[in-house]
Parts: sequence; structure tokens; C-alpha cells
Amino acid sequence: MLYKILLMGPQGSGKGTQAEKLSVKFGIPSFAMGQLIRDEVATGSETGKKLKSIINQGILVSDEDAAHLLKLRLQKSDTQNGYVLDGYPRNLSQLATFDFDIPTHVIVIDIPREESLKRLGGRITCSVCGRVGNVNDGIKVGDSCSCGGKWTIRDDDKPEAINRRLEIYEKDTSPVIAEYEKKGIVHHVDGVGSPEEVFGRIIGVI
Ligand SMILES: [Zn+2]
Repeated sequence: MLYKILLMGPQGSGKGTQAEKLSVKFGIPSFAMGQLIRDEVATGSETGKKLKSIINQGILVSDEDAAHLLKLRLQKSDTQNGYVLDGYPRNLSQLATFDFDIPTHVIVIDIPREESLKRLGGRITCSVCGRVGNVNDGIKVGDSCSCGGKWTIRDDDKPEAINRRLEIYEKDTSPVIAEYEKKGIVHHVDGVGSPEEVFGRIIGVI
């Protein structure tokens, strides 16, 4: 059995955790595009050097370069029984360059907006050492971190910013999901609940 699983879901859907669980369950590798890029840079290959210079200039890696990396990754022998692709392609332009393989399953982890906000909100960061905590753990803005710095909420973690990212996710990924719907390989899974409960639902549709 071949499991080429594309896992999609908004920030806070627990996608990364589920990707790991699927990887272990089926003995297939799991990867996300950001990691593939970092890995290639780390090898010091010609492609890696090119990517490093693009990133150092603050430019986003092109969809073509990203697709090329993915193509190379899918040629490695550990993908013979499949793979878990975490969060890619996330828009139509990326989908257009991902023309060298078709997933067997597209799993979309759905969670309501309020649930995303609840999970992502409350993140609090030390302005000095960068440690991350949560207001639900009793830390308050202005409290002192053990390093002597003060805990603050980064602009990125404020509800407006989280809402904006979730809107972009919905706007960009809906057409991608619609394209895969045409192939009859999309399964929506309720992402509310414990990681084990959500995993059970995913296994149930595969
Ligand atoms: Zn600190």
C-alpha cells in the first residue's frame, strides 16, 4: 500500500503533530517545505548555496525552486512506500509547479476560527532570550523571565495578526483543496480534540 499523504490545516490545527504520527504509523518520511529548504542549504550543494543567497537577500524561494527540491526529495529511496507532505502546496501557484506527483490522500484538518485563536493566542515571548510561554500557564505581560528580560506579546501573536494569517490560509488553500476534490482524494477531519482523537479520525479516513 502506498501512502502519499498531503496534510493541510490552518496554523494551530496540530498538523505538525499529526504528520509525525502518520510518519511513525506507516514508516514513511514526513517533510515540510521549510525543512527541505533548510536541509538543502545545510548540505552546501550548488542548489543549497543558491537558496542561501536568495534567503540572505530576504527574497522568498520561488515556487519553481521549491518544487525542484520536493522532486529531488521524492526520488529518495525512503519514499518508496509513500510520504507525508506537511502543508504544501499551499496556493494555486505552488500547485501548478507540483506536477510530478499526485497524492493518494489529501487530509484537511478543520478547526473553527475561535479554536485556532484560542490555541494560537496567549503566546507570550521573552523580549530578551526569546523563550516562549503561554498566558494560560500563569505568565503575564510585564512579568520577569528568569533571564531578567520581560515577557511581551509579539505583534505576530496578537489576535489581529493571527486572524489575518488564518484568512490568507483560507483564501489561498481553498482553491487547492477544490482542485484535489476533483480527483476524489480529499478527506476532511475534525481537528477539535486531543492529538490522539484527531489521529484516530485521520486513520479512519485513510
Ligand atoms: Zn528571558
